[in-house]
Amino acid sequence: MKKNKDAYIFDVDGVLFERNQEKIAFDELLIEIKKRLENGCFIGLNTGRSFTFVSEEILIPLEKILSKELLKQIFVSCEKGAIDVSYNLNCDKKIKLHKNLTIPREIKEKIENLVEMKKYNSWMFVDQSKKIMLTIEELPNALENKSIFKNFQEAQLSIAKEIKQLIFDNNLSNKIRIDSTRIAIDIESKKSGKAFATRKFIKYLKTKNFTPLKTFCFGDSPSDYEMHQELEKNNIESSFIFVGSPKNFIFEKNKNIIFPKKQLTAGVLEFLKKEN
Ligand SMILES: [Mg+2]
Repeated sequence: MKKNKDAYIFDVDGVLFERNQEKIAFDELLIEIKKRLENGCFIGLNTGRSFTFVSEEILIPLEKILSKELLKQIFVSCEKGAIDVSYNLNCDKKIKLHKNLTIPREIKEKIENLVEMKKYNSWMFVDQSKKIMLTIEELPNALENKSIFKNFQEAQLSIAKEIKQLIFDNNLSNKIRIDSTRIAIDIESKKSGKAFATRKFIKYLKTKNFTPLKTFCFGDSPSDYEMHQELEKNNIESSFIFVGSPKNFIFEKNKNIIFPKKQLTAGVLEFLKKEN
């Protein structure tokens, strides 16, 4: 692979990480990332996941295979930009929490009480590892459920409605939004998101005097496209590699959007290997 000045931004769920992922496939992904860091590229992770999750699932395994110096070429946005992680001069993790984006305690407690209700608590739980946003996750293996709802999606729809009302009643509609995904409900500051986190990555690159010639962003959800849009807005050449289901992503014809044959982490690996 030629020496280059490219940057790569990865979403985490469905892109670098999958439940029940084969270890060998994951290791191959890490090796592809390592190769690029060694070539001088910068890597960004842009995710709604908590710092604890990203650290355990991605950063610690990466730290094991990278020489310390290369860690400075990594920048991580957790909780959709509400938490920044980078490595300091000693190559220790430096974590910055954007507390101004925190979901206010009063409403957080009310939402937690909602989740605790019998009709909901057999389908979902509050992710306690989140520090700024609030995430309600699907409870895996919620079989033999005595709830009034037939499945998680039904329960999700119902609780989202109740949360929306709570947000409205607390005069927070201009500050907080709900983002319902396949396996979770995120209650987050309207300021946060994939574009917000991408701006932080761009800022980080500037502090390192790194101007990317080209950027590749990888996502499996339509909202991941915001990374690509934000880069273009900043006049940075970008390609978006979509590894989700193509029927979930209606796009304008654009040579900068790439669909690998395979999906999810296998699609990411397919692209990276072809690029070598
Ligand atoms: Mg994802």
